[in-house]
Amino acid sequence: MSGEFDLIRQYFTRKTPAVSVGVGDDCAVFNVPAGTQLATSTDLLLEGRHFFSDVSPYALGHKALAVNLSDLAAMGAKPAGCLLGIGLPELDNKWLEAFSAGFYDLANKHACPLIGGDTTRSEQGIVISVTVFGSVTPPLLTRSSAKENDDIWVSGNLGAADVALSLLMRLNRGQVLDKAETALLEKTRSCLETPIPRVELGMSLHNLAHAVIDISDGLLQDLGHILKASAKGAVLYASQLPVNPFIAGLDQEAVLKAVLGGGDVYELCFTAPPAVRDRILQKGSELGIPVSRVGSITAETGLKVLNEDLIEIHNLPYGFDHFR
Ligand code: ADP
Ligand code: MG
Repeated sequence: MSGEFDLIRQYFTRKTPAVSVGVGDDCAVFNVPAGTQLATSTDLLLEGRHFFSDVSPYALGHKALAVNLSDLAAMGAKPAGCLLGIGLPELDNKWLEAFSAGFYDLANKHACPLIGGDTTRSEQGIVISVTVFGSVTPPLLTRSSAKENDDIWVSGNLGAADVALSLLMRLNRGQVLDKAETALLEKTRSCLETPIPRVELGMSLHNLAHAVIDISDGLLQDLGHILKASAKGAVLYASQLPVNPFIAGLDQEAVLKAVLGGGDVYELCFTAPPAVRDRILQKGSELGIPVSRVGSITAETGLKVLNEDLIEIHNLPYGFDHFR
């Protein structure tokens, strides 16, 4: 294979029936349904910062798109298409084959065609930038829309990605995991490496939820963004938090830290009025996605987490911040 254009043709050009102009022209051109607005988001993934150098390229292709689809999900947007910018230190056909398969498998699942991008050589490891587009109609599920007395909900379960990340970081530092830790890593690493974006759930929250966010940096931090934008506070009940079953047996302090502070989750946290509780549970069961009611929005600002005796837990773990 000779170069950039062959690479694009071989790995990043597939038939995309839903768009007018896809990969191969100066711009892609695509339609959004009449009367809708365009939602767009972009995420950057750097080798060594967002993923380990030896991560499976199939999983990386999946995750690069998944984290972006998760942002569409958090706006209740219907995917319309995506762009892929990629910088590679070398041309590795096996790697590209697996990466593009992981990317396209997820893109096809969500009818989100790859319509363009940019490809370049990188001197400093693998760089991946994905941009997604989707369509939305008002009322928009913005972070600033939480109302007093709203319930706070979380989809799926929490904590596994953080546990897998800690174990992988220990392996990366040359530490040896014991048998139980190795088994735990095997059970949790798919949550870290191939997260499932909650696109259908996000769309189904239209006209039900008020504020929605996806949990990329940890429940406390991401819910904190909703509270700040909405000028509200919240109380969370630790005993109601959905804990990933594989980590539930760990030391309880470690579990709470992973569940409240662990990032890379890509579940949705959303607020909705108590009047629609049954409808939200119904949507969850239709989609086969567990949804848990974990707290409520308060007029008084501040975020409290209460234990099962309704006593406030102090020294809460906060989520990830690249510049902290
Ligand atoms: P230009 O020079 O006009 O920016 P390029 O030579 O960079 O065009 O890209 C040629 C075509 O291939 C464009 O349609 C572009 O969107 C597409 N493309 C380039 N890299 C990728 C990629 N990694 N994934 C998908 N499409 C790509
Ligand atoms: Mg270009």
